[in-house]
Amino acid sequence: MKIVRIFAHRVELPLVEGSYKWSGGKSVSVFDSTIVGVETACGLTGYGEVCPLGPFYLPAYAEGVRAGLRELAPHVLGCNPRELGVLNRRMDAALKGHPYVKSGIDIACWDLLGKVTGLPVCELMGGRFGESVRLYRAISQLPPDEMARNVAEYRQQGYTRFQLKVGGDPDQDIARIRATREILSPNERLVADANTGWTQHEAMRVVRAVRDLDVYIEQPCETYEECLAIRRRTDHPFVLDENIDSLQMLLRAKSDLAMDVVNLKISKLGGLTKTRQARDLCVSMGIAMTLEDSWGGDITTAAIAHLAHSTPEELRFTSTDFNSYVTVSTAKGAPQRQHGFMQAGRAPGLGISPREEVLGERVVDVS
Ligand code: MG
Repeated sequence: MKIVRIFAHRVELPLVEGSYKWSGGKSVSVFDSTIVGVETACGLTGYGEVCPLGPFYLPAYAEGVRAGLRELAPHVLGCNPRELGVLNRRMDAALKGHPYVKSGIDIACWDLLGKVTGLPVCELMGGRFGESVRLYRAISQLPPDEMARNVAEYRQQGYTRFQLKVGGDPDQDIARIRATREILSPNERLVADANTGWTQHEAMRVVRAVRDLDVYIEQPCETYEECLAIRRRTDHPFVLDENIDSLQMLLRAKSDLAMDVVNLKISKLGGLTKTRQARDLCVSMGIAMTLEDSWGGDITTAAIAHLAHSTPEELRFTSTDFNSYVTVSTAKGAPQRQHGFMQAGRAPGLGISPREEVLGERVVDVS
């Protein structure tokens, strides 16, 4: 089996809420997503998706996905998509870094592996743990009362986990955490995700001010060392995200006891192969995980569902259903949320088929 063509489509994903806002005044109203196709000589096509959270979140941007694919694709033609280890070595040798560029190709090759073997990706990644995957809802940054209102609304839809976008003015953030925790019951989880937005002294003020509340603190500051300093001075459960972009960082953070939960994003780590490696290491080390991606639509949501569903339940902190945040459906067969949970599909591969009429023309086509 040989890869004979790599192509991509650019898709705009507007947000149901109109915009998504997080730390430092950053916001996006329409996501720019790239849907990647990998075609084989025998006529099978696998699909992946890469959607950065705008150009100012991680070192990744939407046009960079396409430019990177044009650079990388000629090196991948002729590879066997079923040999994911060989394929990833080839991609790493041809293009240093840029994990998000490689992610779409890797996901598409998992989809192909599933189609060839007749198995869903989650079964290929270890099997299906439990009936379904519990979801969190990200709550866009707004004034405290509006965020509390949104939490109440999403709670009605069945969500039991909420990730507040903080990392703004610390006093406002303290009010945001208080206003939302107040309306939740003890069995519901609240995460205050600063997305690197606080300086170290601001983070210290916030964690002291909410010390009496049941809230997780996620990635308070920009650097790993700043986060570690906060971690060592608070007893809130602690999540690292942006700083954990490699196995090396994961091992370092484990050795420093720097986190209780880690956020693994598929494109941040370079695809399902590498995220599975990090996931399995976390399982062995007893670190719970948020399993997700930076953003995306139906195909990303399917990839997340397969990754999460093949992870032992006790170490699966949360995941999210990005396809319910956006107004455009790019594929049939993607997981649909049911009362705060989703399931990986049972069809071969990712179990999705792209809606050709939504994808439009190919913006990358290398054969
Ligand atoms: Mg985060």
